[in-house]
Amino acid sequence: MIIVMSPNATKEQIESVEKKLTELGFKTHTIVGEYKTVIGAIGDKRHLDTQFFSTLPGVESLVPIMKPYKLAGKELKKEPTIVEVGDIKIGGDEVIVIAGPCAIEEEKSFIETAVKVKEAGAKLLRGGAFKPRTSPYSFQGLAEDGLKIMSEAREVTGLKLVTEVVDPRDVELVASYVDILQIGARNMQNFRLLKEVGMYNKPVLLKRGLSATIEEWLMAAEYIMAEGNHQIILCERGIRTFETATRNTIDMSAIPVIKENSHLPIFVDPSHGTGSWKYVPAMSKAAVAAGADGLIIEVHHDPANALSDGPQSLKPEKFSELMQEIAPVVRAVGKKFNV
Ligand code: PEP
Ligand code: MN
Repeated sequence: MIIVMSPNATKEQIESVEKKLTELGFKTHTIVGEYKTVIGAIGDKRHLDTQFFSTLPGVESLVPIMKPYKLAGKELKKEPTIVEVGDIKIGGDEVIVIAGPCAIEEEKSFIETAVKVKEAGAKLLRGGAFKPRTSPYSFQGLAEDGLKIMSEAREVTGLKLVTEVVDPRDVELVASYVDILQIGARNMQNFRLLKEVGMYNKPVLLKRGLSATIEEWLMAAEYIMAEGNHQIILCERGIRTFETATRNTIDMSAIPVIKENSHLPIFVDPSHGTGSWKYVPAMSKAAVAAGADGLIIEVHHDPANALSDGPQSLKPEKFSELMQEIAPVVRAVGKKFNV
C-alpha cells in the first residue's frame, strides 16, 4: 500500500504514520518528493486498516500497489535509481561498461588485462573468484586468493570491482574485498543468498535466471530490497530458448519492459548472452540503442587458453575497438560515454 501524505503534512505527522505502520509489522519505505511525501507500507495488507489510516492527520490518500514487486516497481518510486560506486553513477545519463575475464586465473595477466580495459574506457573490472561451473570437474576459481588479486588490480588501476558470490556463507568475505556483489543467473532464486546480500550495504548486480520471467527476476530484486538493500543493477544475460546457434538468447525486449515497470538500472551481458565473441559487438550496440544503462563484457588476454568462457571472450584489442564502435550509439540515444 502507498500512503500519500498531503503536501502540507508535517514531519511529526509523517513520523507518526511510519510508527503506526511499524507497530503493525510493516516495513516502511518513505520517499520525500518535491511536493509530497509517500510512504510505502510493505507487509501483509490484511493487517492494514485502510479506513483508520485514511483518517490520520496529514494523510491524503491510500493507493494499493498492484504489482507483486512493491519496492522494485515504479508504483511507489518513479524516479530512476542511481547506484553509486565511488564516483561512478550507474543508471543515470552515462553508459557504464564493466569488463574483465570470466575468472581470475593468475595475477600478472589479470592485472595486465585490467590496465588494458581501463585504457579502453571500462569503469569497473569483473572477474570470478568463485565460479558456478556446469561441471564439478571444471576450474572452480581461486576463491579468496582471487579476491586478493582483484584488490591488487584495483590498487593498480583504480577500477572498481565486481565479482560473483555463490554461497551465503561467503557474502561477508566477498563484500570485504569488492565494490559490487554479483548474483549469478543460476542463483537468481537462491532466496537465502538474496536475503543475505540484502543485509549488506553493497550494490548488487542481479543476473536474470536462465529460465526466469521478468516478473520472477523483479521478485528476486524484491527479496534483496525487502532486507533493506536498494542498490540493485539488473542484468539481462540471455535466456534458454529452442535456438542453438547461440549459447543463450538475449531478450532485448527486457530492456524496455524493465524501464516501464521498474526504476532499477539494467545492464546487458552480451558475452554470456551469445556465447561467442563475434556476436558481442552487435549485441552491445543493440543493448545501448534499446536503452541499457550499461554492459558487462568478458575480456581475456588469451581466449584460446582461458580456463572458462574463452569462446565468448574478446581480446583486449577487440574490446578497445568495440568501445569506439559503441560511442556513436551512446550519443545517438542522448547519453554520455567517457571513453
Ligand atoms: C559470469 O558472469 O561469469 C557468469 C557465470 O554469469 P551467469 O551467471 O550470467 O552465467
Ligand atoms: Mn563467464
